[in-house]
Amino acid sequence: MAMISIKGLTKRFGDLQILKGVDLTVAEKEVVAIIGPSGSGKSTVLRCLNFLEAPSSGEIFIDGKRLGYEDDISGGRKRLKDADLNRQRAEIGMVFQQFNLWPHKTVIENIIEAPMLVRKTPRAVAIETGRRLLDRVGLLAKQDVYPSTLSGGQQQRVAIARSLAMQPKVMLLDEVTSALDPETVREVLDVIKALAEEGMTMVLVTHEMAFAREVADRVIFMDEGQILEAANPAQFFSSPTHPRARAFLEKVL
Ligand code: ADP
Ligand code: MG
Repeated sequence: MAMISIKGLTKRFGDLQILKGVDLTVAEKEVVAIIGPSGSGKSTVLRCLNFLEAPSSGEIFIDGKRLGYEDDISGGRKRLKDADLNRQRAEIGMVFQQFNLWPHKTVIENIIEAPMLVRKTPRAVAIETGRRLLDRVGLLAKQDVYPSTLSGGQQQRVAIARSLAMQPKVMLLDEVTSALDPETVREVLDVIKALAEEGMTMVLVTHEMAFAREVADRVIFMDEGQILEAANPAQFFSSPTHPRARAFLEKVL
């Protein structure tokens, strides 16, 4: 069963065609790593998957449901009502390079905010779930501190816990270790790896080639708004077939 299905996705900003027809299917529990040069459209794919950007054309299905639109009577597409769209988006967790935690809220308050607001989860239940998730990312002892007292790696683990608190069907991770001090990168990667092992469906954009190889079921190479190669990691990293993928790997490995 496909958890994510992207069909003919294009995105233009003004005259610039950023995505030129992306097709990708991600199975339930599959972990897909997207790699490629800066500016190739990796973040834009993730942003379309979370409807932070509206696709110019093409369709995205999450767990069988069309994202963002419904058919209209003339055969075109009609944007979903905000309430329906927000319900869909709540099922798609996203974590960014910048953690975007609320600085004036404690760790646990950061985590319970969205479940209470969006899912109407009672405060006591949200706290209970939040504590369980903090424990899972190794930060239960930090529940009452403010984010600024934490290291970058700890803040990113809180951001992951916050995203999980919405019980998403899918997690999208966009270079989540790029802004971290080197000594805190591994603790974040270990949390992601544990999520993968627990069967979370994930699409992650990463510069960490060793990690992509370690955790991904499939590696996608993007360049200039297109997927040029999709392969299992062992095969991709030992013998990429597309010349541009080969050139990219020679630079980064
Ligand atoms: P990547 O994540 O692979 O580095 P992005 O998806 O962020 O690439 O960006 C792909 C291209 O789209 C880049 O050339 C970027 O400048 C352009 N782009 C991204 N967002 C916008 C926007 N909102 N308006 C105009 N151009 C954009
Ligand atoms: Mg990017």
